[in-house]
Amino acid sequence: MKLLQDRVAVISGAAHPKGIGKATARLFLEHGARVAMLDLDEARIQESAADLGAAPTQLLALVCDVGSDQQCRAAVDQIAAWSGGVVDVLVNNAAITQKATFRDITPADFERILRVNLTGVFNLSQAVIPLMIQRAAGSIISISSLSAQNGGGIFGGAHYCAAKAGVQGMTRAMAKEFGEHKIRVNAIAPGLITTDFSRTGRSDESKDDAAQGWPLRRAGRPHEVAGGCLFLASDLSSYITGTTLDINGGAHMN
Ligand code: NAD
Repeated sequence: MKLLQDRVAVISGAAHPKGIGKATARLFLEHGARVAMLDLDEARIQESAADLGAAPTQLLALVCDVGSDQQCRAAVDQIAAWSGGVVDVLVNNAAITQKATFRDITPADFERILRVNLTGVFNLSQAVIPLMIQRAAGSIISISSLSAQNGGGIFGGAHYCAAKAGVQGMTRAMAKEFGEHKIRVNAIAPGLITTDFSRTGRSDESKDDAAQGWPLRRAGRPHEVAGGCLFLASDLSSYITGTTLDINGGAHMN
């Protein structure tokens, strides 16, 4: 059963070959969606789109820095021209991180992390919302982090934790405001996932080792977060809004 047949989905931060964004694009395409992939990384976004191998009517790859409201609006204009003014699903996935102690974080570091990880979610959501309101339908999913709940420490500093906690708060506020337009807004808080997010080159196995103390005794895989995105994007979750879905192997229970 295809859960997103002919729906139009926008996914930010979808370029990295091992990332959650690309895994989500792949799963959404398998479920019949038309997908617009956005990323800052021009070379990689084209490579990843080519690798997914979908027809240009099904898949659009665009360069967009989510930290820029102008670039978000321009990208959404291009997507609207491609899709006939339709966006059904937005996955705010783009983010950066920095491992740093609180006292080492400079004002510039703080601003940079907040701009991409929190303002970026605001920028892209604000660009997409008018299209969803027009059609009285939509699902927005923002990728937060376990770090928002447990204080981080694996690869994010206090600025990363603050941005990701902000994503959860903004998700609830948006869910309240846009429920009357039949737009659902939810977040996902992944635990440790075997991507290359921290750019340390750590192997998947070493991440599994680090997870031995948690109930499922391994790190999560990108497709397992993509599965959560599919659930929240589809009608399977039609009565769910304002929630944060933990995908963390039991590492933290609310
Ligand atoms: P990733 O590095 O593979 O993906 C992030 C993508 O965002 C990259 O392709 C990068 O080029 C892109 N990006 C960075 N800055 C951007 C910008 N300004 N505009 C547009 N794109 C930009 O890492 P990932 O692990 O797949 O991360 C995906 C999401 O999952 C992030 O929101 C991250 O915070 C979250 N997350 C990851 C983990 C983990 O363990 N990997 C845990 C918790 C949360």
